[in-house]
Amino acid sequence: MKKIKKGVCCLIGAAFFLSGCAKIHFIEFEPIFVRANAVGSNVYQGSKEKTIDIINTQLDISFSWDSAFVYGNATIAAKAYFMPQNKVILDAKGFKINKIGLLNNSVFKELEFSYQQNKLTIFLDKTYSAQEEFKIFISYTAMPEKLKVGKDITTIDDRGLYFINKNKPNKQIWTQGETDCNSGWFPTIEDPAEKMTQQFNITIEKNLKTLSNGILIASKENSDGTRTDSWEMQKLHSVYLAMIAVGDFKITEDSYRDIRLNYYTEPEFAPHAKAVFGHTPEMISFFSDTLNYPFPWPKYDQIVVKNFVSGAMENTTATVFYDQLNKTAGEIADESQDPIIAHELFHHWFGDLVTAESWSNLSLNESFATYAEYLWLAHKFGNAYADEHLMQDAEAYFKYVKIKDPDLIRFDYADKDQMFDAITYQKGGLILHQLRKEVGDAAFFTSLNLYLKTHEFKTAEIHDLRLAFEEVTGRDLNWFFNQWFLANSNPQIKISKVYYPEENALKIMVDQIIDTTHQKIYQLPFKVKIVNANQEQVFSVLLNQAHQEFSFPMDTKPVYVKFDADNQLLVEKQELKTEEDYALQYQYADDFIDRYESLNYFNKHQNSKFTKELMLKALDDESATLMVMALNYIKKLEVKEQELLATKLMILALKASESKVRAASLMVLAKIKSAKTKKEIGQQLKTDPSLLVQKALKQGKFN
Ligand SMILES: [Zn+2]
Repeated sequence: MKKIKKGVCCLIGAAFFLSGCAKIHFIEFEPIFVRANAVGSNVYQGSKEKTIDIINTQLDISFSWDSAFVYGNATIAAKAYFMPQNKVILDAKGFKINKIGLLNNSVFKELEFSYQQNKLTIFLDKTYSAQEEFKIFISYTAMPEKLKVGKDITTIDDRGLYFINKNKPNKQIWTQGETDCNSGWFPTIEDPAEKMTQQFNITIEKNLKTLSNGILIASKENSDGTRTDSWEMQKLHSVYLAMIAVGDFKITEDSYRDIRLNYYTEPEFAPHAKAVFGHTPEMISFFSDTLNYPFPWPKYDQIVVKNFVSGAMENTTATVFYDQLNKTAGEIADESQDPIIAHELFHHWFGDLVTAESWSNLSLNESFATYAEYLWLAHKFGNAYADEHLMQDAEAYFKYVKIKDPDLIRFDYADKDQMFDAITYQKGGLILHQLRKEVGDAAFFTSLNLYLKTHEFKTAEIHDLRLAFEEVTGRDLNWFFNQWFLANSNPQIKISKVYYPEENALKIMVDQIIDTTHQKIYQLPFKVKIVNANQEQVFSVLLNQAHQEFSFPMDTKPVYVKFDADNQLLVEKQELKTEEDYALQYQYADDFIDRYESLNYFNKHQNSKFTKELMLKALDDESATLMVMALNYIKKLEVKEQELLATKLMILALKASESKVRAASLMVLAKIKSAKTKKEIGQQLKTDPSLLVQKALKQGKFN
């Protein structure tokens, strides 16, 4: 899921935030009810005990739009998990049960059942061993709109199935299963570790389209003016990933090799569907190659629905997006939706193929999907773009951790919904990045491949990930996993550096700010970069004490020293830096973070003697954000200084690849160019799709 279904900042009146690709969007939602553990309670949220295994679910469903009812016939093929069983307990929220029986070669044999507190207990006709498959038939009516918050469900976003715009031409039905919501529309076992195949036969008015997991194997017109679409999913996937959607959608076809990729949008947005989703084939290719594991499913559809309860949901082969992806090509030119698209796609390996066995292990799904955003952005748009995204993840984490600081993998949550937070997502992604830096790219991706192959179409817990890394690297990684995945918080460190000419040595002193009576000392491998007159050196060091001094032999005082040269550590740093240090940091920067820290400092200290020189330099930066920072600074300079930059600004306005750079350049040119030249520029950019550029042309009077 992307990203946070219900970010719980406090117990009531929760705010919900989605970390988009460029900024954090705050969306107000209705209050939700989340239980809190009593102080001192000793909750353990382990994996659910398995007694019955669902093999296949066949659903025949139709709907009443007026009453918002779902009429269902479910045929569930199941078996005892290991120990023999004489009953089956299913989750079914607020159903009216019509009849239940055993199906044996199409012969129906009624079974007794009890139905209390949304648990349907079906008494089998005998005790079945784990080798005997049986089929249960259940005829029922589901009434998701009648489910009561606080009694049947935690929030109104837990109904499972939603009727939207019931009496209007643009009416829709869609579902949201994660975490335990699919039992609001079909009887099942709510457990992420329950994997099944399925066939969903959906009967609707024939002018509407349907979508579900797997392949559309049949579409039959009925005599009453309806149509029944049959969708079959032959590969095992978790119950919470089952979905359907119904509505007036237009399908835009695409493909990757022999995999069909359809984009379902409302008809008016269909002309823009390829602008929004068009990188999907390249993403599948990139992720398949990176993981050395081909896309594991028979097709991949993406659908944009109205009023969705989350940002997006990675239902296997049928991802649902909220209507913020109803974008025009112009809007996409200014803000790509690739991060959320990459996130959901990557779940098709991490989450759908290998599934976290319990919600406590949710980060096994979400840390990878979050990190996939970074992987794709680095591949497609360059490291600066991706590093900026990762920096925003770190900002979101550090903001969140000031309010709540739970373990990354945690077994003591009060409510499953609490798992969908900036710890599981952003911190998880950042820790994977750190793990990659620790073991190196080759070992990192080989380990991921081993993890996928070992647990494909099954589930995993955090130790399975560690074991895959240990097998590939030959190293014991308990220290890393214990410190980061099975713990909370992050290190806080204080750094100081002094050059001692009499000892010919640079000394870096590092303090871990912790209370050693109850806090563990972190083990932090990192790099130090030291630049002196004629060379640049990088040293690997290990910080593993509360107070530690690192000594580097140097004949002369170094010009520039960078602690954590790769910016890989998730730490809060206190380091005294002069403005000379910040200026040198831009000069010797290795990545976006270094340059951002430096330029951001001078953006806040515009009177510094270094500011102008660095801002002018930043016009050639790889990062559009830093170029815009520089252009906004230049906008405030005297006209005669701006005129000296006119040629450069013209090139940026007409040729910069990112629209925000073109737009910001135009705003400077607007002040210094004649009406005639501005008209010529306006002509050249007339067909620029970017809304930002068009707005700048208008504001700057380029017409
Ligand atoms: Zn997700």
